[in-house]
Amino acid sequence: MTRTLSLLTPSGRLTLGSYLGALRPMSRRQEDAFYGVSDLHAMTTEHDPRLLRAYADETAALFLATGLDRATLFRQSHVPAHAQLAYLLECVATTGELNRMIQFKEKGRGVDSTRVSLFTYPALMAADILLYRPAQVPVGADQNQHVELTRDLALRFNRRYGEVFTIPEVVTATDGTARVMDLLHPTRKMSKSADAAGSVCLLDPPDVVRRKVARAVTDSDTGPDAVRAERETKPGVTNLLDILAACGGSADGITTYGALKRAVTDAVVAELEPVQKRYAELAADPSHVASVFAAGAARCREVTAPVVAAAQTALGL
Ligand code: AMP
Repeated sequence: MTRTLSLLTPSGRLTLGSYLGALRPMSRRQEDAFYGVSDLHAMTTEHDPRLLRAYADETAALFLATGLDRATLFRQSHVPAHAQLAYLLECVATTGELNRMIQFKEKGRGVDSTRVSLFTYPALMAADILLYRPAQVPVGADQNQHVELTRDLALRFNRRYGEVFTIPEVVTATDGTARVMDLLHPTRKMSKSADAAGSVCLLDPPDVVRRKVARAVTDSDTGPDAVRAERETKPGVTNLLDILAACGGSADGITTYGALKRAVTDAVVAELEPVQKRYAELAADPSHVASVFAAGAARCREVTAPVVAAAQTALGL
């Protein structure tokens, strides 16, 4: 088994998409795994400190509630090596390549003034990865460009200053991991920062799940085979079918959108129930979550210190 690394940014409440696309696959792969709450990444745009802390606490507890009990869990800000190495990598990156980052262009579009950290974010992400020397980095297609940049920076550093970094292989997640779309805008990814009416939050109680799914956008097809997957022409129905399958349900015999939505609601509620139950127990005992993350951060500090030290030495520090 090769080392793996995954970070979730606490920029909002985690959704069914975060669960099916990240947390559930992470829970199935915990040997030599480092899973972090990337709180530093949640500060690249205007943020509220109290909300950041609340989202980070919720994300940390949800890591445990979704069964991540064998991986090393940590908060990025508790492992200073992330910010340290990010600066060293900024000294290797160029403004030209950071300017080409799609995420910077998109989030900065039409905005007079953006935080410098939005621009330098890819260097921090490169540091996140290179510090742990993972052989492979599983990424969604939207993060491909960042991981490619990480490889470029590591290769450039190694060539210019000496072999310090392991060059990670990018593996695009094509293992059937569900990509969950927004219920109201089914051509957009369900995201934690979007309109909550189209996103099912992991901690939404059953009646809220029911209401959100009931309002999900479908189409005006009323034919006998209306309930079928066809991503281009029927994105809403396809998304509901994907969610149903990912939550262990079946659309066999379902011919109406009303019945489909009821089946989706039941499957989602059943899938989330054990997570929510465990979350409630953990919320009653926050010191347990804190101690797991403190031990994880201590381990991360140990693992990452030699990498920072080697980079510093190579650079002449
Ligand atoms: P994000 O929340 O956008 O920072 O994404 C963190 C990770 O969660 C991504 O790399 C995805 O693997 C996963 N993820 C987030 N939203 C979704 C979604 N709607 N569908 C599938 N996976 C998702």
